Amino acid sequence: MTTFQALPLPQELLENLHSLGYEKPTPIQAQTIPLLQANKDLIAQAKTGSGKTLAFLLPLILKLDAQEHFPQALIIAPTRELCEQIAGEANKLARYKKDVKVITLYGGTSLRTQVASLEKGADILIGTPGRLLDHFSRETIHLGQIKTLILDEADRMLDMGFADDILKLVSNLPKERQSILFSATYPENIDKLTKVILKNPTEVKIASKEKEVAIEEFVYKVEEKDKALLTTIKHFQPNLALIFCNTKVKTAEVSDMLHDKGFDVATLNGDLEQYERQEMLLQFANGSLPVLVATDLAARGLDIEGIDLVINYDVPMKTEDYTHRIGRTGRADKSGLAVTLCDAYGLRKLGEIKPELNTQNIASLTPNKNFYMQGEVATLRIDGGKKKKVRAGDILGTLCKDIGIENKDIGKINVYQKNAYVAIKKTVIKKAFNGLKNGKIKGKNLRVWWLD
Ligand code: ADP
Ligand code: MG
Repeated sequence: MTTFQALPLPQELLENLHSLGYEKPTPIQAQTIPLLQANKDLIAQAKTGSGKTLAFLLPLILKLDAQEHFPQALIIAPTRELCEQIAGEANKLARYKKDVKVITLYGGTSLRTQVASLEKGADILIGTPGRLLDHFSRETIHLGQIKTLILDEADRMLDMGFADDILKLVSNLPKERQSILFSATYPENIDKLTKVILKNPTEVKIASKEKEVAIEEFVYKVEEKDKALLTTIKHFQPNLALIFCNTKVKTAEVSDMLHDKGFDVATLNGDLEQYERQEMLLQFANGSLPVLVATDLAARGLDIEGIDLVINYDVPMKTEDYTHRIGRTGRADKSGLAVTLCDAYGLRKLGEIKPELNTQNIASLTPNKNFYMQGEVATLRIDGGKKKKVRAGDILGTLCKDIGIENKDIGKINVYQKNAYVAIKKTVIKKAFNGLKNGKIKGKNLRVWWLD
């Protein structure tokens, strides 16, 4: 199969896929979509970045029944970030249908807010195991009409010790349902989930050869890691760099160090509030903070376009973590670079988890002293979003027509329930900031914040 046209999909959906830039299905999509449309239970394994999200969302969205009042699909995923990402993709894919409601449920945001949005009704629930169970025991979610169950990143959920929570949740779902499990790797203990949850599942596995050529991997033996990190960045000169550390404390230290050296840096770790994590990721993705220093929280599932360099400042503890970390680059068939920095301890660790990698001398790199990573844009947060009916076009209109900012100086616009964010070239951001502060969007006076 070479195009989406070859699948029995409605014309409006095909047009929507086209407008989203999806022209032909990836191998995992080509193989699983027909099976899922035939209502089969499925275990699917494919490397990260192979398009698994669309593979399970597309048949699901087609299947939704507009007449149904209760949630029809439950998607369980390991992290808040991944839930948001899946929800974003679901909303985009469902644009052609009227009134598809997607709700995300994860910890770190108030239960009460979530209950309030649940009360308005939902078609698709996307959540982490713990929070879903929480809602279930409080009887704030209704699972009696769930027709499709999807476990995304099942390997990761097992790693995080969610198996029991998942099994408990699933035991409360209707027996008549389609169950689907997606995973990047296929650990042995996965039987724990598959045996109980799936009925005569079809297994689809896409070999991961092509992927490995897309990411070039380098390992450097180093004495001082901070210095080596700077050398690496200044040699490879990436557009967007993701740096992994093993601990929260280390992410803060490395961020501070890079900041002191003149880099625009975002930090992501489990100490941050949910909204802070979202803002960090957003500023990284829109280029305001082109370096992200993170724990393994950012290693799974996250799909940010254009990450061209992943650096392991610390050697990860497990082979899977290594695979997932470097899988953040080389997404959607673009090539990527992964560098691992090893001190004496790191070398021993790497010998255990990736013995096949060769080590090189960092002295072979030729750093450009004058290379820095600074955002050409910065981000403004507007205290108004979908709830106040603010759309990207309204913000663009105010900026261009009322304030006189040129279209070419305006970057990504992201609109959420309560807030909206817009990236603006630093050369004109002051003008944009003052203009928005004193002006109106859709006739409303909204508060504006300049993030840095
Ligand atoms: P996985 O879950 O397998 O790690 P994702 O579902 O996150 O991968 O997809 C990786 C990237 O590929 C995303 O940016 C997604 O938008 C893009 N993508 C998915 N399907 C297609 C397609 N058919 N054509 C082009 N890009 C696609
Ligand atoms: Mg995924």
